[in-house]
Amino acid sequence: MTDRVIPITDGRRTKPLPNGGSLDSPVRASADLLGRRLRDLRISVTDRCNFRCIYCMPRDVFGPDYPFLARSELLTFEEIARLARIFGEHGIEKIRLTGGEPLLRKNLERLIEMLAAIPGVDLTLTTNGSLLGKKARALKAAGLQRVTVSLDSLDEGVFRMMNDADFPVSEVLAGIDAAAAAGLSPIKINMVVKRGANEDSIVPMARHFKGSGHIVRFIEYMDVGATNGWRMDDVVPSAEVVRMIGAKMPLEQIDPNYTGEVAGRWRYRDGSGEIGVISSVTQAFCRTCTRARLSTEGMLYTCLFATAGYDLRGMLRGGSSDEEISGAVARIWQARADRYSEIRTAETAKLRKIEMSYIGG
Ligand code: SAM
Repeated sequence: MTDRVIPITDGRRTKPLPNGGSLDSPVRASADLLGRRLRDLRISVTDRCNFRCIYCMPRDVFGPDYPFLARSELLTFEEIARLARIFGEHGIEKIRLTGGEPLLRKNLERLIEMLAAIPGVDLTLTTNGSLLGKKARALKAAGLQRVTVSLDSLDEGVFRMMNDADFPVSEVLAGIDAAAAAGLSPIKINMVVKRGANEDSIVPMARHFKGSGHIVRFIEYMDVGATNGWRMDDVVPSAEVVRMIGAKMPLEQIDPNYTGEVAGRWRYRDGSGEIGVISSVTQAFCRTCTRARLSTEGMLYTCLFATAGYDLRGMLRGGSSDEEISGAVARIWQARADRYSEIRTAETAKLRKIEMSYIGG
């Protein structure tokens, strides 16, 4: 390790509530300071993962002695569901379960059942796919609507190098098939592209899933957290990804499905499907960001690149009423001014940001 910043392990750097900290203003979160509504909630259900992806949980940092959260620190399913219901009243339209690896959390189906009962909310999950073969049917039966599966290469050597857990491609592909068979579609497949690591996997990945109905999304390698040693030189701009694929399989750009969609959409000119590109580094989309993030231990973050969050678990366990928590959520959202990706520099990249495995991807 050279100049890596020490990771934030306790996750407890809290911010005081905005506006002097009164907890009980029963306002609905309308818009933040940049006019953005609160529409999406990402919930991290565990900070643990069975992969050690080099760009997310590098093994030299997240080793055997890494202080993952103790069980008592995690929000219980009841606590998560209570917060989700409160967020539902603020107009949340979509909940995504993530982590860490969400399928490592025991009896996750029980939480899914509780969340699926919230009216008007689209319920999805992001996974590395390693346990999907076993769990896809039960997840669907519990009320999960769709999944996004991360897969960084179809090349065995490259994939194992990137997941650093010796996990084979074939099992993730089997998980994707199981998810499709269970009806968790359309399935999105996330591939993080890191210069010098998996650029050669871009075109084969696009070709493999072309015509399958699944949508591959190529993600620019981001400076999340403080441990992955991110450098701008390691980013492959989405424009380059589109050029590489388009040169082999002609593409045309299409409109977003909705305002605030993170992926730019491109479809194959022969009508055999589409791909997405997530260009958080080269074309920041902060202006339309409607996402809030709830960490495994109940801290609320208003940006993926945050350095501190708001302690909702303290309110839950301190006896606050739903109205008080709801008022706090409204105040937090209304005071939000985050736009990290628009102001990113080599210097901001070194900030002690919360790790993605903790805050939830
Ligand atoms: N374990 C699950 C998984 O593998 O999908 C969920 C958590 S993971 C943190 C969520 C997503 O974040 C994955 O698609 C992962 O590839 C992506 N991700 C993690 N670190 C990243 C980084 N530095 N830049 C871009 N994407 C990243």
